Amino acid sequence: MRLGSLLWVGALLAAVPLATLLALLLGGAVAVGPGLGGMAVVALGALALAALWLADLGNLVETLRQAMLENSSALAHAAAAPRLPPVERVARGIERLARNLATRAAQVGDLLRANEAIVERLPDPLLVLDAGRAVLRANAAARAAFGADLAAVLRHPVLRDAIGQASALRGTATADLGLSAPVARELRATVIWLEPALADGGQALVVLSDRTRERAVERMRADFVANASHELRTPLTSLIGFIDTLRGPAADDPPAQQRFLGIMAEQAERMNRLIDDLLSLSRIELTEHQPPAERMDLGDLLARVAAGFEPRLAARRVTLAVEVAPGLPRVPADADQMAQLASNLIDNAVKYGREGGTVQVSAALAEAGGRWPGRGVVLRVSDDGPGIPKAQVPRLTERFYRVDQGRSRAAGGTGLGLAIVKHIVNRHRGLLAIDSDTGRGATFTIWLPLGERRALPP
Ligand code: ADP
Repeated sequence: MRLGSLLWVGALLAAVPLATLLALLLGGAVAVGPGLGGMAVVALGALALAALWLADLGNLVETLRQAMLENSSALAHAAAAPRLPPVERVARGIERLARNLATRAAQVGDLLRANEAIVERLPDPLLVLDAGRAVLRANAAARAAFGADLAAVLRHPVLRDAIGQASALRGTATADLGLSAPVARELRATVIWLEPALADGGQALVVLSDRTRERAVERMRADFVANASHELRTPLTSLIGFIDTLRGPAADDPPAQQRFLGIMAEQAERMNRLIDDLLSLSRIELTEHQPPAERMDLGDLLARVAAGFEPRLAARRVTLAVEVAPGLPRVPADADQMAQLASNLIDNAVKYGREGGTVQVSAALAEAGGRWPGRGVVLRVSDDGPGIPKAQVPRLTERFYRVDQGRSRAAGGTGLGLAIVKHIVNRHRGLLAIDSDTGRGATFTIWLPLGERRALPP
């Protein structure tokens, strides 16, 4: 407390009583001794009161200063309590106000952090743009998906138009855009114009959902329907043509009729095979999420399937060598699907392998480590035929994909055999590996987990 302030406030308090006493003294109403004594008492009393007021006001100012720090813990060490009751009440009020403010500030801080965590962890990339369309914030998904290419994404004309549209509407606009680099992606952008702007200047939200997979599935479906219809139409057109011929030009030509009926039977058989394969494929797809519950002996199964190939082997002079490792454990597998898988692979090896060649089929135990993700049984079918050009190997399991269209059709292939194999392997949570190159034969290897531990997804 400064002396100057003390004297100044003391003088203000004492001015009126001192002036009154002085007037009484000068007018002779009060004796000199008591008058001067009274004036001294008034002056001292005023100084004491001034000291008390100034000290209390000092404490109040200190309390306010602490409150302005917005730190409730600081209030614990706040200035000493004022002694004048009204000033003391004001000081307590300020303290309460400060505590409330601190609690609110903590709640707002928690809310902000929660909002940021939600935005940050959203699975879709999300950007916050300022009024100048510069990126203010990008969540983890956006940083992971685009990284340094974010600016390029925002320069995409379709996205820029959508942002312009959202701004004009003061609402929401959507757009589909395709990116070619660094990898081809198809995105659905939703732009939300924020009115009023966010506290940090955020004016627009851009959510970019990756629709690449969805679009690919849509395209695959459409392609599949188109391909399946085309595959069915070819033999059907041929049947219709022969029916017309039998009714017309060949109506009186029994030898031609016999020949045409033979071709028609072949075409009908082809349609039948195609429909069988299509139905198999859709049945396997339906159960693909459900791994088989029963266990079976692969050795027995291979022997049975191989026996069914006798006539075909003789026709192409192919030797089929089956080798099953002794003591092979039973694997969790669907017997019908495994028979179909083995039959498709052996059928291909006989069809596309060398006439007079050898097809080797084996089943052996695979220990953990090495090429496969865990303990399992490895089924292998290999031939010594012309093989498949390496570049085409990754596409073999696509539906209707054929390396040599003419050869496949001539051999009665539907183009679905390996797609069926792949889906069966997927259902069994196994893996399929194809090793082949031109002139090196082809080897199809399937690893099936023993079901002791969870296998890796295919
Ligand atoms: P397809 O019904 O035509 O045989 P697949 O799906 O079974 O259909 O096989 C797809 C294509 O892969 C075949 O058309 C064939 O060109 C090729 N292919 C499959 N297995 C072999 C093999 N063992 N050797 C050479 N080519 C093969």
